[in-house]
Order: sequence, then structure tokens, then C-alpha cells
Amino acid sequence: MVGTVDTLIIDGARVNASDGGTFDVHDPSTGDVLATVAKATTADVDRAVQAAHTALDSKAWGGIAPAERGRIMLRIAQALRDRSEELATLESRDNGKPLRQARTDVQVAARYFEFFAGIADKIMGNTIPLGPGFLDYTIREPIGVSAQIVPWNYPIQIGARGVAPALAAGCTVVLKPSSEAPMTALVLGEIALACGLPPGVLNVVPGTGSEAGVALASHPDINQLTFTGSVDVGISVAKMAAENVVPVVMELGGKSPNIVFADADLDLAVQGVATAIFQNAGQTCSAGSRLLVERQAHDALVARLADRAKSMRVGPGVSDPDMGPIISKRQLETIEGYVTIGRDEGARVAAGGERPSDPALGRGFFFQPTLLDQVSADMRVAQEEIFGPVLAIITFDAIEEAIAIANRSQYGLVAGVWTRDINKAMAVSSKIKSGQVYVNTYGAGGGVELPFGGYKKSGYGREKGLESLASYTQVKNVCVKFA
Ligand code: NAD
Repeated sequence: MVGTVDTLIIDGARVNASDGGTFDVHDPSTGDVLATVAKATTADVDRAVQAAHTALDSKAWGGIAPAERGRIMLRIAQALRDRSEELATLESRDNGKPLRQARTDVQVAARYFEFFAGIADKIMGNTIPLGPGFLDYTIREPIGVSAQIVPWNYPIQIGARGVAPALAAGCTVVLKPSSEAPMTALVLGEIALACGLPPGVLNVVPGTGSEAGVALASHPDINQLTFTGSVDVGISVAKMAAENVVPVVMELGGKSPNIVFADADLDLAVQGVATAIFQNAGQTCSAGSRLLVERQAHDALVARLADRAKSMRVGPGVSDPDMGPIISKRQLETIEGYVTIGRDEGARVAAGGERPSDPALGRGFFFQPTLLDQVSADMRVAQEEIFGPVLAIITFDAIEEAIAIANRSQYGLVAGVWTRDINKAMAVSSKIKSGQVYVNTYGAGGGVELPFGGYKKSGYGREKGLESLASYTQVKNVCVKFA
């Protein structure tokens, strides 16, 4: 909070940065300083990695009964729920998202701990038949110290998404939240300790990407890295990890299509398409930022989306509007730049396209919900991740054309298909190159249970669901010959 410094969490203690450095966190609704946070140095990251190693070697976490690990994780889930209003308000102030979206994020974070708590005692191996005189079996051992670098758009949700499976597997963790929105990750670290997580098992080191992020990604003593963020940073992080032969999960960006056929239930589609792009002001990796609409449905769908966009209330996150601010002035300017690019490329602005005129919002980083119509598949606004509330609308005439446009992207994170025809839905879902496909829905309330990750430049490896355990365990095969 303002006036005090939120400290790092290393080896179970709240500590200042080794050089006393701090950084300010801003409220994107006003630009005001929200908090001052200790800025982890390279030395702090090193201390956190060493604490995680000591905790790993002590077996204080990985060596206890898996069911007991699960019980502690259930306590963390409950504590997140008990403090959900406080956490949601903090997330809403820090990131700017509407309060009800922040409340959902906290519930989803709790669900991650609950889901993976139930798995802690079900991480099993195999026996492999080799014939008489042999017993061969596999065990899934914790991979070790997991380094986790997360972005600012869903801090508590994405923090929990990586931390919970790592803990279930018996790993220890160093978590580096984004300097844009680090607050709830620190509370998560505090809650975990209060619920009985041994010191050093979860360390939290907010700081800049260029110092704390680089120090963590290049650290020779981490055993695994989960990176969630942009493609360019992901590539440099993967190179650093490769120097130490450290395996990486890459959760990167997207330009996900929602494909709406003329036979779709338009009520459902309007709702789904609008939520997919305007939730969190479009600052979502899996945002449905391209709308591919069949020509016969175009006018009706765009008119309804425009009505909806124009009626959305934009305002400070804590006032629980329909859409909050953009995270920073820099990101706001990037979004504005893309709208100009879209106009210059020949797109028509069908709603929004500028900052709101309300003077009460003048100090914050607000942008209107925006529709860019008459976009063609190769325009920059159809190809590049804008990371704002800007929907690129492309019209198609035939199913094969829609599939080709959807796949004409460097990304492949999520796709939505809206139709009443099961055959169309199945044809599209089998040919789309993306890690998730939704039919007549988009997202699934956090999707904790569903494997999530990218094709192409959206990344590799999978988070969420049972699949994610593969990243936090390594298989040991034991072969015994007996008489
Ligand atoms: P970003 O890549 O700028 O930063 C992500 C994290 O990396 C932050 O913690 C940052 O401090 C750190 N970082 C920055 N430079 C670094 C460096 N050189 N070395 C190590 N760490 C460094 O991304 P962002 O702006 O915070 O988030 C937006 C991006 O994240 C978008 O592209 C979005 O699609 C992506 N994202 C992906 C997912 C997913 O699950 N696939 C989820 C959310 C966001």
C-alpha cells in the first residue's frame, strides 16, 4: 500500500531487495501510484533459487505424504476464497479489470489449488512387462525447482495455474510476477505460508523483466521454466533456458478466431463474441480478436455487436463497469496506433475507435470497445496481436475459406465455432490449428480442467488439466532383475 513497501518473499520471510530498490505500481484507472514494491535484484533471485533448492533437498515438501500436500493445498484454496473480496479488489486496482472479473479470477485461482490438491496423491507410474525375472516400473518424480514468469493480465489466475501443479508434483517454485501488476502474487505467497507451506517452497520475486526475469530464466540452478508472455520475450527466455538445458513451457500470444456461420444462434454468438474480445479490455492471450462471419449473417451480427459495444460502460475497475482501463499509457498508445493502421489499411470503424470522451476518465488509460469491419485476412490488424478491445471483422463465403483464413496466422491458441450444424462444427474443429476449439461457447469459466496451450507461435507445452503435470514431473524407470 502507498507509504509502505511490499516486500519480496524469500525462504518464508518478507524481505526488502538486497540493494533496497523499489518500484511504483500504478492504478491504470487514474495513473496514481497504488503501491511501492521491493524490486528483486539478480542477487535476490539467486537467493530465492537457492532457498527453493534447499527446500527441495530437505524433502520438507516433496518428501511428505502426497495426501498431506493435497491437504495443505486445499487450505490454500479455502484461504483464497476466504480473502476473495480483498484479493479481487486488489487485482481490480492493480490491473484495472472490472471487479466481477477479478472475483472470477480469484475463484479460478482457488479452483487450481483445489483441482491439483486432488491430484497430489494420484501421480502414478507404470509397470512394464519384461518377462520372467524382471520387475520394471516407472515413477514420476518432481522435476525440481520450477521458475515461473507471469504477465500482468491475469496475475493471480496465471500464478495459481503454474504454482498449483508444480506444488502438487512436489516441486518448489520461484514466481516472478510482472512489474505492472505484482500485488496479488505477493498475497498468494503469504497465504501459502500461512496455510503451512514450508519456507522456501514458494518464493515470490517481483521485479523487472530485464533484471529479475533475466536472472531467473538464465539461472543455472533452476530445473524447469514456465513462461507466460509475449512471443519476443518468450524466444529470448527459451534461449537462456536452453543454455542450461532447462525444459520450458511457453504460453505465448494469440490472434484467436471466432467463426460464425449464418445458421448460428445469433443471440448466443453475439454474447460469446463480445465477451471473448472485451473481457479484460481485450488483454487476454486467448481473446477472440478475429471475427470470421459468413456473409449472410454479417450485417445482422455486426449491427448487434456495434449496439452492444456502444452501450458498454467503461470505467474504473473497482466501480465494476463492463470494461476497465488498459494496463498502461504505453499499451493504450499501441492500441490507438493499431486503430490508425487499420483505418489506413481500409478497415471501417463500426464502433469505438478512440478514447472515451468522459472527462472523469481523462487521467486513466481508457479506450472504447472497438469494432474494425471490412478487414481482410492479411491486414496487420488481422495478423498481429493488438492486446486491446479491438475486434477485426472478416467476411467469408464458404467453410473451406473460413478454415483457411482462421489458419492464416502465426498463432494457434484458441478458436470458436458458432453453428447449429454438427457436421460443420466437426469439420472446422478437426482442421483448425489451435490448442483449444470451442463450439457454441468460448472458454469454460477458467477452464481449469482443460489442457491449454498453443500451436505454432502461441507456444508449446500444456498448462491446466492433468496434462500440465507432465511439465512438473520427470519419469524415472527402475529395472530390477531377480532370480
Ligand atoms: P511480456 O512478455 O512483456 O512479459 C511477461 C513476463 O516476462 C513479465 O513478468 C516480464 O517482467 C517478464 N520479462 C520481460 N522481459 C523479460 C526478459 N528479457 N527476460 C525474462 N523475463 C522477462 O508480456 P506481458 O506484456 O506481461 O503480457 C502480455 C503477453 O502475454 C501477450 O502476448 C499475451 O498474449 C501473453 N499471454 C499469454 C498467455 C497464455 O497462457 N498463452 C496468458 C496471458 C498472456
